Amino acid sequence: MSSDFDVIVIGAGPAGYVCAIRCAQLGLKTACIDDWLDSSGQPVLGGTCLNAGCIPSKALLENSEHYASLKGPDTHPGISLQGLSLDLAAVQQDKQRIVTELTNGIDTLFSSNGVERINGRATLHPERHVHVSQHENNKVRVYTAEHVVIATGSRPMDIPAARIDGHRIVDSTGALDFDDVPARLGIIGAGVIGLEMGSVWNRYGSEVTLLEAQDMFLPPVDRDIAAIALAEFRKQGLDIRLEARVTETVNGDSGVCVTFSHTEEDHEMEFDRLIVAVGRSPCSDEITSPEVELALEQGGSIHVDEHWETSVPGVYAIGDVIAGPMLAHKGSAEGTAVAEIIAGQHGEVNYASIPGVIYTEPELAWTGSSEQDLRNAGTPYRVGRFPFTASGRARAMGKTAGLVKLLAHRDSDEILGVHIVGENASELIAEAVIAMEFKASSEDLALTIHAHPTLSESLHEAALSVSGQAIHVANRRTD
Ligand code: NAD
Repeated sequence: MSSDFDVIVIGAGPAGYVCAIRCAQLGLKTACIDDWLDSSGQPVLGGTCLNAGCIPSKALLENSEHYASLKGPDTHPGISLQGLSLDLAAVQQDKQRIVTELTNGIDTLFSSNGVERINGRATLHPERHVHVSQHENNKVRVYTAEHVVIATGSRPMDIPAARIDGHRIVDSTGALDFDDVPARLGIIGAGVIGLEMGSVWNRYGSEVTLLEAQDMFLPPVDRDIAAIALAEFRKQGLDIRLEARVTETVNGDSGVCVTFSHTEEDHEMEFDRLIVAVGRSPCSDEITSPEVELALEQGGSIHVDEHWETSVPGVYAIGDVIAGPMLAHKGSAEGTAVAEIIAGQHGEVNYASIPGVIYTEPELAWTGSSEQDLRNAGTPYRVGRFPFTASGRARAMGKTAGLVKLLAHRDSDEILGVHIVGENASELIAEAVIAMEFKASSEDLALTIHAHPTLSESLHEAALSVSGQAIHVANRRTD
């Protein structure tokens, strides 16, 4: 008996929906199943990224940045403003408008590409039978497919010391939905989410304290970049406390009291709201029936081979539910590659140049190896640096906090990593990713003409500085 579909994709986040669209483009009969319901109980596509992650957080980050820049400090002399006010309800409404437009957009893309959308909770049974429990009536419908792709994503991690109550103590989803600006905001974890959400609420006026268990700030980030970012964030008023491990929270009348250990002593602080941002875990539980033996890795991610096939033949997994950085664009790249493999083509992902971004002010963005990675691996390298203080464009913008750091192999000159802190770093990093994809040398970048005056000249100058030829900054020898 033939299957209902060539491919069933479980999950319609950036990994799953991209995979489904690519499968359909390649002529495969494809369905995509998702169980996400919005706040009014309506099924929506897009997963965490569109509904409770990248997009709503960026909407708030943009809005709060405008608000903060209008409030000052005065970086644009000659402009003054009176009567500035914040209507948070209108901000939240507009955030929801952006989300809805984008999630509806995926629905349109599914229709135009011929992907069948199925709403409900999917469970994988033997022989690639997928049971879908429908939202309306909990009735189960069974679909079969030649190939199944699991793209069920991740969820916020919970810690016993701070149980989410959805009101005072919230996770990253709750942190996007505050209906007032908390006067005292605590955040457990000074990672990506802690810093982005801390920035949003700090700009709207909260007094923000981040309690971070580790002694190092942003361990995966290049040390020079992390040091500049830490100093800038502290200047903005983010109270970032390292080596502060939260051990207990007590919800009281006046707020939530947080106990944390710091320099071997216990400390207490009270907050009006507390965000728990201590990482995310893969949604790999409850997606298969007991007869399906899906091998997991330590930490719960689904084990896959080099073609993203799981331990169950014909079943693949992509995105946050497998190992690797939990990034939407990493999941989308895997989704495309798997679709192409299923269609009998060649599909691959270059994990070495996936960019990482933290959307703070200044932004952090990087790709490839950090200096500490190269040192640990014993790889010989040269460093080029260019500070934003030396960029005419950055000065005109009043955004001089920043640095581009470029690492190239000492012998071959191939670019091994680029690390940026500064205005528009999230956009600037694309040039570095392309350069690395084409295995460019620092000389290639140095010979490429960049428009003046732009921030991208900072990449050009950093590339020149690798060989001591930067024009707008004093060169220092690194070898
Ligand atoms: P994270 O791993 O970036 O940071 C969590 C931090 O919490 C860590 O530094 C950890 O040391 C700390 N921590 C853990 N337990 C603690 C305790 N008891 N007390 C104090 N500190 C504690 O995780 P996140 O910020 O929650 O983000 C989750 C995932 O989502 C990440 O993989 C991230 O890459 C992804 N994400 C990416 C973006 C982006 O690309 N801009 C945005 C949001 C989320």
